[in-house]
Amino acid sequence: METVDVVVIGSGIGGLCCAGLLARYGLRVMVCEAHAIAGGAAHSFERQGFHFDSGPSLYSGLSYSPSANPLRQVLNALEEDCDWLTYDAWGCFVPEGYFRAAVGAQAFTELLAQWRGPQAVAEWQALQRRMEPLKAASVAIPPLALRSDWGVLRTLYPFLPDILKQARHLRQLSGPFSQLLAGVVQDPFLRNWLDLLCFMLSGLPAEGTLAAEMAFMFADWYRPGVRLDYPKGGGGALIEALVRGVTRHGGDLRLQTRVQHILLQDQRAVGVQLSTGEQIRARHAVVSNASAWDTRQLLPDQTRAVLTPQPLPPCPSFMHLHLGIDAQGLPPDLECHYLIVNSWESGVDAPQNVVAVSMPSVLDSSLAPPGKHCIHAYTPATEPYALWAGLDRHSDRYQQLKVERSQVLWAGLERIIPDLRHRCEVTLVGTPLTHERFLRRHRGSYGPAIAAGQGRFPGCQTSLPGLWHCGDSTFPGIGVPAVAVSGMVAANSLVAVCKHQGLIDQILAS
Ligand SMILES: Cc1cc2nc3c(=O)[nH]c(=O)nc-3n(C[C@H](O)[C@H](O)[C@H](O)COP(=O)(O)OP(=O)(O)OC[C@H]3O[C@@H](n4cnc5c(N)ncnc54)[C@H](O)[C@@H]3O)c2cc1C
Repeated sequence: METVDVVVIGSGIGGLCCAGLLARYGLRVMVCEAHAIAGGAAHSFERQGFHFDSGPSLYSGLSYSPSANPLRQVLNALEEDCDWLTYDAWGCFVPEGYFRAAVGAQAFTELLAQWRGPQAVAEWQALQRRMEPLKAASVAIPPLALRSDWGVLRTLYPFLPDILKQARHLRQLSGPFSQLLAGVVQDPFLRNWLDLLCFMLSGLPAEGTLAAEMAFMFADWYRPGVRLDYPKGGGGALIEALVRGVTRHGGDLRLQTRVQHILLQDQRAVGVQLSTGEQIRARHAVVSNASAWDTRQLLPDQTRAVLTPQPLPPCPSFMHLHLGIDAQGLPPDLECHYLIVNSWESGVDAPQNVVAVSMPSVLDSSLAPPGKHCIHAYTPATEPYALWAGLDRHSDRYQQLKVERSQVLWAGLERIIPDLRHRCEVTLVGTPLTHERFLRRHRGSYGPAIAAGQGRFPGCQTSLPGLWHCGDSTFPGIGVPAVAVSGMVAANSLVAVCKHQGLIDQILAS
């Protein structure tokens, strides 16, 4: 039986950030990952020379430092990085037509002037003014100083003057973004567009998205000279950097290592038992990076409620299409990302309405064989799991449903590349069952659907002594920057305040 200081269950971005920082703090840490590839929702895989991202591909605030992006701060603390490529726009097909959604407030103003006229421009500018003080407030409380005990008073102390200056605005940030739009934005296109941005960030439209998330996004995307980032070598290169951050500081990552249950002793988590029967003991803590629903399954019935006593509704799941295509004769100005919205009336969260497309080989030709492109298209957290529940993956019904439910992805892609179907060399269709199985996520869900103002993401400390939690089931929620915060907070909370303060000083100096 092996004994370490901390066992981390799962190598999603939250788990790797937590494990890396714990190792950097000098603790002996072991990450147990069920999959053969690290990264969870953010892992990459290869087929016939095509390199595919399974999940995230929209990154910002990572290619430069200092940056408010918490993942950048973790990479700095671990003294690891990957190379970054940058770009400035996505292609957008909306019911009104096609446009290049360039980051930077000015580009969008020009589009509004053309499509919607002076009133919409005035509303957009009024919103920018309204967001201005909130942008500063959204970064006033640095996540790297957060921890889950009273020591937070000491770690936040140096930032107090700034926090107090922003106190008036901080209250507004804890409500839904829709409250900030009230009386400012009436233009239907602008409302729809903001709803879409909210949905892509949080999985919920403006009424459910925390104003803080949007203020952070405004701070990041609508500033002069802004660029969006993509890791050279694909999302897998970012995960490799995080894994190196764990191992170079003495931590271990074990792949194909499924935790079967969390070991308890005197009502305290003291380690894990693997599916092989092997046990790993944890002197200080077990940190689960699995979703709240999946973590519950690792506990005995009577202790399950410790994790999230509140009801946790899951967001829907995904349809995925991963394609390796022949790129011969395609226009040279294809975008790295596209969004396709079929209808505004049905709502951005309606099933089969929005398609997100990522074609990173446009930026990084090493991701596909010469003259080819790799494509990932997906319906972002809108595929109802109920349609798929209980289906046998080898049945005709499953195959038929795959064909039916992926049509919206093909149709979206054909708006970009009309003869796409004749170009395919690799075709992989993923369903909520694929998502559930490979990413070990309950109902293949994007994460908890906790609407702003109606509930809160639980913190990283559970009420079971010794058991901690990080990832998108915990504060501050879903998305790459958010899970990096959760990993940071869990790691910081497990060490003494003086060690934590040392890390803050190092990160701020980098
Ligand atoms: C298609 C898609 C696109 C996205 N796009 C973006 C984007 O562009 N930008 C953005 O910011 N966010 C995006 N997101 C969201 C973001 O990727 C996720 O919120 C984030 O990666 C989740 O990280 P996590 O730390 O919660 O862990 P997860 O990724 O959920 O990883 C958890 C890990 O735990 C492992 N595990 C579970 N149970 C066990 C067990 N019993 N034993 C061992 N291991 C176990 C799993 O195998 C998994 O590897 C996207 C998500 C998806 C699915």
